[in-house]
Amino acid sequence: MSELFARVAASMKPADGTEGDASQSMGSLLPEIETPLAPPAYRVLARKYRPTTFEQLIGQEAMVRTLSNAIEAGRLPHAWMLTGVRGIGKTTTARIIARALNCTGADGKGGPTVHPCGVCDSCRAIADDRHVDGLERDAASRTSVDDIRDIIDGVRYGPVSARYKIYILDEVHMLSKNAFNALLKTLEEPPPHTKFIFATTEIRKVPVTVLGA
Ligand SMILES: [Zn+2]
Repeated sequence: MSELFARVAASMKPADGTEGDASQSMGSLLPEIETPLAPPAYRVLARKYRPTTFEQLIGQEAMVRTLSNAIEAGRLPHAWMLTGVRGIGKTTTARIIARALNCTGADGKGGPTVHPCGVCDSCRAIADDRHVDGLERDAASRTSVDDIRDIIDGVRYGPVSARYKIYILDEVHMLSKNAFNALLKTLEEPPPHTKFIFATTEIRKVPVTVLGA
């Protein structure tokens, strides 16, 4: 159980990854323009400047080092727990971890890496929220065991096209006790091709058993 989780310390600083920040910094990033940008061009720009690599995140060095060591050793944890206050960039971090795990590199031959390429099918699908083997869920709004039934049932099947099936559960402390227990059962014998990335603002509300402490 002790290796079940790679728990990430709550020392992250807010990441400058919001669309608002991107729009504010447009003036300095773009050369002077004579005509206003058309909406589609603006959207592409905003997405481009949302952090998509670990290097663009602030204060994540320890987590990246841990992940890097795990990849090199070929011993990836089955689950991560991202903690910290709201707005710190946990979901963004979760997506970058998902990229790191599933990146195949520009030539399609690469393995898990802390430098996801950003151009392979998997990297692009995660960035566009259309990854067939990725599921992102806000546990705050769906807390019952029935609400996570699809996850519990889904872990039995391998990924469709990616290396790993990746479940990102935000605000995981909001899950009911029964839902936690059901989830815990899947984590006790995790399928080899399934990874969980949990995020929470209230780590003390997560049952100790789930933390593997
Ligand atoms: Zn990639």
